[in-house]
Amino acid sequence: MQTNLLPSKNILTRSSGYLKEICSHSLNPYSGCGFGLSSCGVGCYVRFNPWLTRGRKWGEFVDIKINAEQLYRQTVTREKNWAHKRAIPFTVFMSSSTDPWQPAEKKYRITRAILQAMQDEPPDTLILQTHSANILDDQETLQELSQRCNLRIHISIEGDRNRLPGLPPPPSSIEQRISALEKLSTQGLKTIVCLSPLYPLNNPHLFFQRLESTGVTAVIIDHFIEGDGTTSGSRTLKTHLPFAMSQVQEDCVHLPYRDQIIDIARGYLPVGVSAQGFAGHFSQ
Ligand code: SF4
Repeated sequence: MQTNLLPSKNILTRSSGYLKEICSHSLNPYSGCGFGLSSCGVGCYVRFNPWLTRGRKWGEFVDIKINAEQLYRQTVTREKNWAHKRAIPFTVFMSSSTDPWQPAEKKYRITRAILQAMQDEPPDTLILQTHSANILDDQETLQELSQRCNLRIHISIEGDRNRLPGLPPPPSSIEQRISALEKLSTQGLKTIVCLSPLYPLNNPHLFFQRLESTGVTAVIIDHFIEGDGTTSGSRTLKTHLPFAMSQVQEDCVHLPYRDQIIDIARGYLPVGVSAQGFAGHFSQ
């Protein structure tokens, strides 16, 4: 892993494209991701962003934005005003192209510093997105932030199998992530599970029953078709992920599988589909 300590020019990025319906701004404390060689890194759409990777192999580099907290403090008022002038809430999505609780966070605590800055200058809505149970390191800060803004915690759990054939292990086991959800939900924090991209489920009824029992508010179900930034899933189709999924269940690589799973999930929890779900729109 190549780790670079780099000052960044910008930390609150005004949304465009797919993200526009979800948030006014994205915030990435790191560039690159230490989970890139885990299972989620295989189909991770960020790996196809040449502007971000600059020729480097996904999962083998991470740029640490050492001035992120400072930048947040310097620009938050301007960016909040920018959103409000457009009559949209100042909604920050953290993160769209990295994981805020990746391994580097244990050492550099860039995410923590930003969250602490947000306690002083909160956005209207904060969406935290992670694959890691390490989010528990910041429980106290999350508690306090939830008093200052509309906080939604998204934990990615793509399915009920820890491994798909031929793929590496996930960043945290399913049990670790479910246990994190339980701990955060018990404290009254709003938690949401993201099946994104949806993997073939072994026992959907049991899985959604288990998620419901953790106290999560809702689930987001997002197939790689329509969910990877392309309508046909063409980005993901270039990776090994669809083959690994189809080894388990052939029909899961087609969109009707998503719809079958949505119907089952609605028996247990409110469901948001793809971008609508990430934007906080759920129905049961
Ligand atoms: S944790 Fe997120 S950003 Fe990192 S490799 Fe996995 S999917 Fe990509």
